Amino acid sequence: MTAPFADRLLAWFDQHGRHDLPWQHPRTPYRVWLSEIMLQQTQVVTVIPYFERFIARFPDIDALAAAEADAVLALWSGLGYYARARNLHAAARRMVEAGVPDSVEGWAQLPGVGPSTAAAIVAQAFDRRAVILDGNVKRVLARHAAVDTPQEAAATQRTLWALADERTPAARAADYTQAIMDLGATVCRRGMPRCEACPVSDDCQARRQGRVAELPVRRRRKPKPVRQRVLLWLEDGDGSLFVEKRPPSGIWGGLACLPVVETTADAESRLDALGLARDADWREQDRLRHVFSHFELDARVIAARVAPRGVAESAGEWHPIERLAHDPPVGLPAPVQRLIRERVAGH
Ligand code: SF4
Repeated sequence: MTAPFADRLLAWFDQHGRHDLPWQHPRTPYRVWLSEIMLQQTQVVTVIPYFERFIARFPDIDALAAAEADAVLALWSGLGYYARARNLHAAARRMVEAGVPDSVEGWAQLPGVGPSTAAAIVAQAFDRRAVILDGNVKRVLARHAAVDTPQEAAATQRTLWALADERTPAARAADYTQAIMDLGATVCRRGMPRCEACPVSDDCQARRQGRVAELPVRRRRKPKPVRQRVLLWLEDGDGSLFVEKRPPSGIWGGLACLPVVETTADAESRLDALGLARDADWREQDRLRHVFSHFELDARVIAARVAPRGVAESAGEWHPIERLAHDPPVGLPAPVQRLIRERVAGH
């Protein structure tokens, strides 16, 4: 008879799982929570250096809660999905007031923490049984039980939660949680799963039915609308670039960015509003394309050398371009930082 799913997975984890991730030593609620938020939509290898820098600067919840929002965003710079950083900061402040929760329900009430993340935190930080269902786990379960309805459908979600619940053991909650996440990330991968190395392959329905490549099923997505914008690359004569802070909510909320206008016709009035005057004509410089969750940004980057005009107050800041490229003192969206870095490298 085949051993229970959890037993096989845990035996595999003991030998092949990841035991040296920085948030596992020590596995405190703060470190686990931070890692879980950073790991949303982001791979472990990318997260590790960010996690280490973040922990060095904000070693506990009190330090994070006491920080300025800009300092938090600056350390998040390049990791993307900045609402995560804003929520993290807000949640830290709430925990300083109300205490650190120790239940799934308590964690799920904090900003930025969904039911699966809340369960992952409780299981790993308190070693208490809690059922997780993140993207990796959904893929593993959809294949293992050959769930062939679209993942996005509410009925499929209910089925997957039930399958996850059935398989979650009463003991070794922290290890099981890490184990199933590791299995999804390293063996039952999105492309090219390594079924020959999989500890639960014996009763995997997708494998038996030869349907591994077609599962999980996703709804066909509509193409995303494209938003055309123009970014203004404004340099002074001393190698500094003008950036301004975005409004707190919305795309790149709270981050510093090149001024954004809808069309080139708006560029001039924007310069006026910023109290800047151009020394020469605009130059077409680059193009920045970036895919957001709900639309695609297609931005032309036009450049000009500018100088402050009169005593007008400007809403932005000047920073040396080299500094923005390699060690930004302000939080910059990753694609904008990349653009600046490529520009610097091209000179
Ligand atoms: S046998 Fe293959 S498809 Fe099935 S769970 Fe394992 S890795 Fe995934």
